[in-house]
Amino acid sequence: MLEYEFRLDDILEEMAFNDKKHFSPHYICALSGIADLKIVTQYLLSQVNRKLKVYYEVECPEGDSDFLVDSPVEIISELRRCSVCGIEYRPDPDRVWVSFDFLPQYKDYVKKKKVRQVSHF
Ligand SMILES: [Zn+2]
Repeated sequence: MLEYEFRLDDILEEMAFNDKKHFSPHYICALSGIADLKIVTQYLLSQVNRKLKVYYEVECPEGDSDFLVDSPVEIISELRRCSVCGIEYRPDPDRVWVSFDFLPQYKDYVKKKKVRQVSHF
């Protein structure tokens, strides 16, 4: 593993312990100080089904996160009404954001591990 991967691993562990939900690669970039969005996104995608699950947020023209899908192929270019602001629009593949969440198993593992560490001191 490369150094930035260790760093990202630590950050994920801390976030899982703190019950962080629905986070974007941008958020991890800001938190880790690793400015390369592509590298961070690739790393996060590599952890899907291990520590993370991935989903895609579809944004309305007003910038609301209207709805979530598991895969971009599920997005149909049909007129719909935004669930937040009510505007009518057609989902645009360029306005879809990748997001991540922790798998419950990983969260449980991190919490148990931390509790064990604390009790040893
Ligand atoms: Zn909206």
